[in-house]
Amino acid sequence: MNYSIARRAASLSPSVTLAIDSKAKAMKAAGEDVVGFGAGEPDFDTPAHIKAAAAAALEAGFTKYTPSSGIPELREAIAAKFKRENGLTYKPSQVIVSCGGKHSCFNVIFATCQEGDEVLIPAPYWLSYPEMAKLAGATPVILETSDRTEFKVTPDQLRAAITPRSKLFILNSPSNPTGTVYTPEEVRALGDVCVEKGVLIMSDEIYEHLLYDGARHQSVASFSQAHYDHTIIVHGFAKAWSMTGWRLGFLAAPEPIAKAIDALQSHSTSNPTSFAQKGGVAALTGSQEHLSGWLQEYTLRRTTAWKALNAIPGITCVNSKGAFYLFPNISGTGLKSAEFCSRLLEKEKVAAVPGIAFGADDYLRISYATSLANIQKGLERIDRFVRSLKA
Ligand SMILES: *Cc1c(COP(=O)(O)O)cnc(C)c1O
Repeated sequence: MNYSIARRAASLSPSVTLAIDSKAKAMKAAGEDVVGFGAGEPDFDTPAHIKAAAAAALEAGFTKYTPSSGIPELREAIAAKFKRENGLTYKPSQVIVSCGGKHSCFNVIFATCQEGDEVLIPAPYWLSYPEMAKLAGATPVILETSDRTEFKVTPDQLRAAITPRSKLFILNSPSNPTGTVYTPEEVRALGDVCVEKGVLIMSDEIYEHLLYDGARHQSVASFSQAHYDHTIIVHGFAKAWSMTGWRLGFLAAPEPIAKAIDALQSHSTSNPTSFAQKGGVAALTGSQEHLSGWLQEYTLRRTTAWKALNAIPGITCVNSKGAFYLFPNISGTGLKSAEFCSRLLEKEKVAAVPGIAFGADDYLRISYATSLANIQKGLERIDRFVRSLKA
């Protein structure tokens, strides 16, 4: 049988990060001593009070369809979060709860972009953004950055890339994969350009709470009414509450965009899992005490990994200010990222994600959402691997 796959799906390749992660997990299951730096998720458990709230909801029979865009209680809790933490006023009707932050991104791009539109994406980028833009029929326009400028796009660079077709600019700060955090002034300046040119902004703020070295997060929507009117914020429970498997994310948008996404979601996934939403309410309204311990642990791991990376000949690494990734430059080793990673996994059983997956072939992504012991062991192996290249 010769199946003809629709063009939009045939051109897709599966997520490289998920592929590396599953290969490493399979090697581990086969008894191999693998160190995994591939994971894009926290290694901490979901806080107990969140799990208890979902379990209680399940027990109480909260197992049916809910309103497609989420239960009112959760949409209100999300609106209250934006007010409390970001100084932003959203009505619950402007908030859409989706099946993960990734699904929220998908909804935003599908509701705003189509054939003929251009989507402006700074590289290194989260690998799903360009694929989502293409699925929507739009054209990704990549804005290249490097470690020399801490992977930040400048307002001039953004302005120069804008054409009459530009529809959406994607801002992700703190960033996956680089850990870069734009300062409030830098965020504002990028927002100014979008406002001036009439380009929408999708601001992916899922790492908002994971900041180091005094870095500050300020949402681009918060600088003026015009910034607010141009911005759709994407967020979710995966990172700061360690709820990746729950598939629960959210977005806040100007009313007409929220309304379009509400309709889109009602004909695709319908509501996110009912009892997971009750966990989401507990996450936002309950204790946030877990976070300071996690941040302390991430900080220690980050510093350890960063120092060890910079001690390897041929590798340089800028320190990250947010999220839980480092993005070392490996160009001094003479290998491109895909070959580096596959040989590293084979020879030293260390899984890292090749930068090419994020549009940056001279780099690797190292996730430090793993134990300090793993970090020490894994970095020793990378050091040995790189030194063996020179021998
Ligand atoms: C993890 C992540 C998301 C959302 O993940 P979900 O598991 O779908 O909630 C969104 N954007 C970025 C940049 C991420 O790293």
